[in-house]
Amino acid sequence: MLEHRDGHCTGNWRLVGSGEDRRIACERCDASFRPTPENRLAAIDENYAGIYLRRLTAEGVAQQDDRDAA
Ligand SMILES: [Zn+2]
Repeated sequence: MLEHRDGHCTGNWRLVGSGEDRRIACERCDASFRPTPENRLAAIDENYAGIYLRRLTAEGVAQQDDRDAA
C-alpha cells in the first residue's frame, strides 16, 4: 500500500520518472513506490479522497488562504 512519510500528509500521488525508474511519488512528502497496478489504483483512490477533503476544507473554512495549493 502507499504510505506517506508523514501520516497527515495530504499530497497527491504522481507518476514520475521514465522506464525502469518510474515511481509513484508524493508531491509533498517525497515518499515513493513502485508503480505496480495495485499501487496505481491505490494512488488514484487516494488522490480522489485528498481532493475531496481539500474541497471540504476550502468550503468549510471561510477566508483562510490555502497556502498549500499547488
Ligand atoms: Zn505525502
